[in-house]
Amino acid sequence: MNSVEFDRAMIERYGGRGPRYTSYPTAVQFHAGFTEAEYREQVRRTDGAHPTAPLSLYIHIPFCHSLCYYCGCSKIVTRHADRAERYLGTLLREVELQAALFSPGRIVSQLHLGGGTPTYLDPAQMRRLMDALRSHFTLRLDGQREFSIEIDPRTVTPEDIAALAACGFNRISMGVQDFDPAVQKAVNRVQSFEETEALVRAARSAGFGSVSLDLIYGLPLQTVAGFDRTLERILEVCPDRLAVYSYAHLPQMFRAQKLIHEEQLPAPAVKLDILRRTIETLTAAGYVYIGMDHFALADDELVKSQIRGDLQRNFQGYSTHGQCDLIGLGVTAIGHVGACYGQNAKEIEAYTRSVEQGHLPIVRGLVMDADDRLRNTVIQEIMCLGRLNFASLADRFGIDVRTYFASELERLETLQQDGLLQLNEAGLSVSGRGRLLLRAIAMVFDRYVATHQVKQAFSKII
Ligand code: SF4
Repeated sequence: MNSVEFDRAMIERYGGRGPRYTSYPTAVQFHAGFTEAEYREQVRRTDGAHPTAPLSLYIHIPFCHSLCYYCGCSKIVTRHADRAERYLGTLLREVELQAALFSPGRIVSQLHLGGGTPTYLDPAQMRRLMDALRSHFTLRLDGQREFSIEIDPRTVTPEDIAALAACGFNRISMGVQDFDPAVQKAVNRVQSFEETEALVRAARSAGFGSVSLDLIYGLPLQTVAGFDRTLERILEVCPDRLAVYSYAHLPQMFRAQKLIHEEQLPAPAVKLDILRRTIETLTAAGYVYIGMDHFALADDELVKSQIRGDLQRNFQGYSTHGQCDLIGLGVTAIGHVGACYGQNAKEIEAYTRSVEQGHLPIVRGLVMDADDRLRNTVIQEIMCLGRLNFASLADRFGIDVRTYFASELERLETLQQDGLLQLNEAGLSVSGRGRLLLRAIAMVFDRYVATHQVKQAFSKII
């Protein structure tokens, strides 16, 4: 892959709204005509055809102790711990319902707990969840497993970290966002560097093979100098991976963001300066830019997987196990099994009712057609590898690429003239200048994104 190159003019030209392509087709295309019965049928077919293929599980724990004002996640802020206990009961029942659909020979090699705040569950509840997973699925035990959990450093102790390792987790990610106290206060998320550093140390001594930290740029009161100081402190703890997200201010979509004072948001030019400095600082410190918002140390699995050419994207972002069938568990969770995507109910009451009645709580989704599968592969390869090999696509899908994608290739000419990519007989290759704009390049192949309404559903690319 070419080294990332920051080009302000191109970012301004192509950095409008677009999907993050954690799936293709994106969740905007999911519809209520996709039912539990359709999901069961799709699983039956896929499982019959691949009875030993590995599995991935995503489990959503929606609860949080307090509200971060920038938050766009699906979460429930509550101090009532008994809500988590009831939710856990429902979740365990859903685990049982889903597990019954899959062959026991299918080993779970990837597991991710996200939220909300997964560590809202106390250590005893977490053990019950993991025990239930172990009794209904075959979990991979060796070091090749990727069992990850998102933690909120404000509510977790070093002892909790050791308990998570004992449960089988070997990857951890922590939200930081910014260490500047003024920024933290403006977004209602106060957390010291010392707290975070102690937890990173605890994770390493408990044997976690990978520690990932999340930052956000574009938050109120952020400045280039202030974010530089945050990056300096981040480099002191040397995380294996870093996600640096752009804050998307969409108060009409995310109620929490109404609490942010818009006049405190950095100007777009300052936001871009922060991004430029972040790329320079992290690459100078030895981090490899993977794509989108992700950086990793050169010996990290994500980098190796990108070099090997098998890096994938799924709902957790970049993944080394993206080819696995993914089972989504919990309220709002999305699964991707065979050719279908299925999403659980978004409201906890509907989710609970459905599971208590013995149903999978799937309320929407879709079955991909042949064109979706082809475009899914094309978009994955652009997003993960920054290239497309036309001969390989022609072989796998039995198409003449130049004829099938005639209008797309014509549109790519303009992007080529702007230096974002090179096109030739063999394929497409994203240039250093195009690497920050992968979403804009991938969008050329998205057959749904053309309409104005659909575009409004996505955040800005930069
Ligand atoms: S950012 Fe995380 S901890 Fe904060 S409210 Fe959102 S989901 Fe909860």
